[in-house]
Amino acid sequence: MMRRLVASPSAGIAAAIAVLGLLSGVLTPYQLTLANNIGLASLTVLGLVLLTGVAGMTSFGQAAFVGVGAYSAAVIATVPAADLPPGLSLLAGWPLGGLLLGLIATMIVAAILGAVTLRLSGHYLPLGTIAWGLSFYYLFGTTELFGGFGGISDIPALRLAGVTFADGRSLYWLIWGAVILAVVVTANLLDSRSGRAIRSLRGGQRMAESMGVDTFSAKMTAFLVAAIFAAIAGWLYAYTQRFVAAAPFGTQAGIDFLFMALIGGVNRVPGAIIGAGVVVVLREWLQDLLPHILGRTGNFETIVFGLAIVVILQKTPTGIAGALARVIPKQFFQSSAPRRATGELPRRYMPLPGEVVLEADSITRRFGGLVANNEVSLSLAAGEILALIGPNGAGKSTLFNQLSAVDRPTSGEIRFLGRQVRGLTARALAAAGLARTFQHVRLVRGMSVLENAAIGAHTRGRKGMLASMLRLDRVEEARLLAEAAHQLARVGLSDQLQTAAGSLPLGQQRLVEIARALASDPCVLLLDEPAAGLRFTEKQALARLLRQLKAEGMAILLVEHDMEFVMGLADRVVVIDFGETIAAGTPEEIRVNPAVIEAYLGGGE
Ligand code: ADP
Ligand code: MG
Repeated sequence: MMRRLVASPSAGIAAAIAVLGLLSGVLTPYQLTLANNIGLASLTVLGLVLLTGVAGMTSFGQAAFVGVGAYSAAVIATVPAADLPPGLSLLAGWPLGGLLLGLIATMIVAAILGAVTLRLSGHYLPLGTIAWGLSFYYLFGTTELFGGFGGISDIPALRLAGVTFADGRSLYWLIWGAVILAVVVTANLLDSRSGRAIRSLRGGQRMAESMGVDTFSAKMTAFLVAAIFAAIAGWLYAYTQRFVAAAPFGTQAGIDFLFMALIGGVNRVPGAIIGAGVVVVLREWLQDLLPHILGRTGNFETIVFGLAIVVILQKTPTGIAGALARVIPKQFFQSSAPRRATGELPRRYMPLPGEVVLEADSITRRFGGLVANNEVSLSLAAGEILALIGPNGAGKSTLFNQLSAVDRPTSGEIRFLGRQVRGLTARALAAAGLARTFQHVRLVRGMSVLENAAIGAHTRGRKGMLASMLRLDRVEEARLLAEAAHQLARVGLSDQLQTAAGSLPLGQQRLVEIARALASDPCVLLLDEPAAGLRFTEKQALARLLRQLKAEGMAILLVEHDMEFVMGLADRVVVIDFGETIAAGTPEEIRVNPAVIEAYLGGGE
């Protein structure tokens, strides 16, 4: 196991504080103001890294949450208790009360907006964020309590616990302290069970749900955290500017924040600070420089800025942080190695060998006029390997998706451990002990092999967002990673734990999927073409593993193309062609069955 260059998080924090201290000594007051603007932007952009880069949801509306935080601070700081709405008068003049109000308002707004927009897919989500960005801008500008478009001025200097933050230098420490805290909390979150759930969204919602991840709540977590960071930035902004008006919280600002994230590197935590820094400094510099070059004044920097953005995005689609990551030694970024785990995760009660665990009864699945499955029935018992074979397009994967509740039968019934599968989600089925792999591999490509496998163990952990942010999840997390490492060892990938999953050959990616499925401690394992792309020796190793699992009482349903692989392994074989069962029996019976021979020869296989 390689050592990390940054030995521990606390060493990283100490280094950051040392750098900040050094800078505060050499920066001019003007540069300090700039540094403060960078810090404020970094906080919001950090939320975008989580929301857009990690969770894959593009938001143009983050500036609205900055506004919620800023107006909460300004109203509580300036409006006399008597003029505040009832219930808020208690908070009047109390800065932390403004923060409290801002956070509560943000969470309420984010929960409502999230409930409405997070279920939108594709381009509708970004469009939805533009819509709320616009509405909030007008809401801020037209509300009497907020001073209309004129805004709220004369915000007094911030006083916290007897300390006054009136000048750039004291605010510098406050703002950058908040940035460090937010970076630590975000890094902790990403390196945890809840963070993996958010990161698993990148592997596709269907995959994540099949691993037991509640994808809506994973999205909501990212959304709330991003909104809270923005609101805290807004609160600090109000006390930095001492003046709040609607203009900086519109969609234009939302777009700016997104650009900062893209330029800095939208899927990396340092990208937030780099992006904010580059954009803020570049804008100042261009505002000074361009009138000199062009001989007249105007908003030329916007144009140059736009062009610069296009160039940077073309040269480094992963942003500056992505480019740096390619030149800085890899160990520097290595995610945490599996710690020695104390104790193990709880195991599931396994059905007795021979007990029927999964039953499909006359399943029919129509896609429009196409009948992909027609009255197919099968049953699978614990300690058995059942192979489902048939030519391409026969309907194997379709049946498979229905068995794992990813898809619903048009008619027919499926029972898992005696329960009706109709009405259960893929997530519930995963928690109940059914694990699957995908014919078209669904891994989070940029994430390590170890963490990909650990997604499978999601249902075996309990710790949530807050516990992970505060690092109260370490014992459980070590067990989850140890379980993932153990299952990866079983499929022969022990020496690839820290490799990015997407850089493995396809055959090995399938093995990662099997390890991920096993990490859920399933009693039923559904494998869709697991041997495709494997070399001969790898196939033999996989066959050995499946036999061993079977001996341990696992029920295995195997969809396969490779006849030799199946025939040597399966206890029973079901053959389907054009969606219908054409034969069922032992491998010996199937091998000589005329209908099967006809289907395979006739089907061009
Ligand atoms: P197999 O896995 O046996 O190769 P599939 O189950 O993937 O076959 O496909 C069976 C048939 O159903 C094919 O003709 C395929 O085009 C069709 N099919 C599968 N999924 C869908 C879908 N979501 N919509 C429409 N047709 C589909
Ligand atoms: Mg298929």
